[in-house]
Amino acid sequence: MEIIVAVVFVLAMGIGAQAASEPRNLYWGCQGEDVASLQTQLNSLNFNCGNIDGIFGPKTYAAVLALQKSSGLAVDGIVGPQTRAAIANLLAKPSSPARNLYQGCTGDEVAELQQKLKAAGFDCGPVDGVFGPRTHAAVVALQKASNIKVDGIVGPQTREALRNPIPKPPAESGTPSRGGSVPRYTKVITMVATAYCPCNKCNYPYTDQTTHIGLPLGHGIVAVDPSVIPLGTRLYVEGYGDAIAADTGGAIKGNRIDLCYPDHQSALKFGIQNVKVYILP
Ligand SMILES: [Zn+2]
Repeated sequence: MEIIVAVVFVLAMGIGAQAASEPRNLYWGCQGEDVASLQTQLNSLNFNCGNIDGIFGPKTYAAVLALQKSSGLAVDGIVGPQTRAAIANLLAKPSSPARNLYQGCTGDEVAELQQKLKAAGFDCGPVDGVFGPRTHAAVVALQKASNIKVDGIVGPQTREALRNPIPKPPAESGTPSRGGSVPRYTKVITMVATAYCPCNKCNYPYTDQTTHIGLPLGHGIVAVDPSVIPLGTRLYVEGYGDAIAADTGGAIKGNRIDLCYPDHQSALKFGIQNVKVYILP
């Protein structure tokens, strides 16, 4: 009898304590230590929200949107119980510490590295999962450009540099070329990019798969804030390629751009990144 009473008492205490410490919802404009800890968590999950400043501003907002999108949640930019649970889930996953990569390594991690190098404009030859001399040269070039230790070994510092690569300066003028180099442009803007695909989830609540200006969704279609980039503008997006501003989106305001990928997996893989967007003539 005494034991049962004690158990009930402890349960009641537990419930009481939980209700009292139920965290508040966080959204654009919120400030405080809870925002700072949210930012720390987002950054550690590679949803980059910039400096940990305890202010829920545009970068944190974009990071939350990306997280919600990739977790299949309602994309509203509000961190409530569901989003919190999703973050807790992701944090609980044992993240295998990334091993160092260097010449001679092979495997999926190398292929992923090669893709990122390419996206950042460091040519490492074909994405074949083999860390050969060209990949080594690309890593060395990245390390030089990023002012970090130049050893050709991809460790934490180089990974960090790869997350925020300093893009190679594009040609101010010249012949527009295919092959990944930047064509002639009139203006360049650094934007926060997310990705989507033609699926219903990505386009909720819309179900038709055409864009605002009637083009079918697919690679090369990007959503913008028309007050920043007029619809119909031709663009070159760093790490993505040639594009046309053809779509809009509820969350795509100001410095945001949403890149269309052919499938959901690629869109998820892109996550959220800062990209340079070149406005073409
Ligand atoms: Zn999708």
